[in-house]
Amino acid sequence: MTKAKIDGEACKGCGLCVGACPKKIISLSKSKINRQGYFPAEITDIEACIGCALCAVMCPDVCIEVE
Ligand code: SF4
Ligand code: SF4
Repeated sequence: MTKAKIDGEACKGCGLCVGACPKKIISLSKSKINRQGYFPAEITDIEACIGCALCAVMCPDVCIEVE
């Protein structure tokens, strides 16, 4: 099954992937802060991921991998 994976430490919290996901399952963390000091993007419902890779295409920092 295809699944998206976000590298939370590389993420700059720009939110582009949040808007790109057609399933609306990506949001910026409200509690976690990464080592760079950003609230990283997280996948809230991985079971709903359809593997479209739009999030990975949108990410300017190449933090998202779709397997
Ligand atoms: S691969 Fe598609 S459905 Fe899955 S998180 Fe990324 S944009 Fe959303
Ligand atoms: S597009 Fe990339 S850098 Fe921006 S919030 Fe999403 S994972 Fe983080």
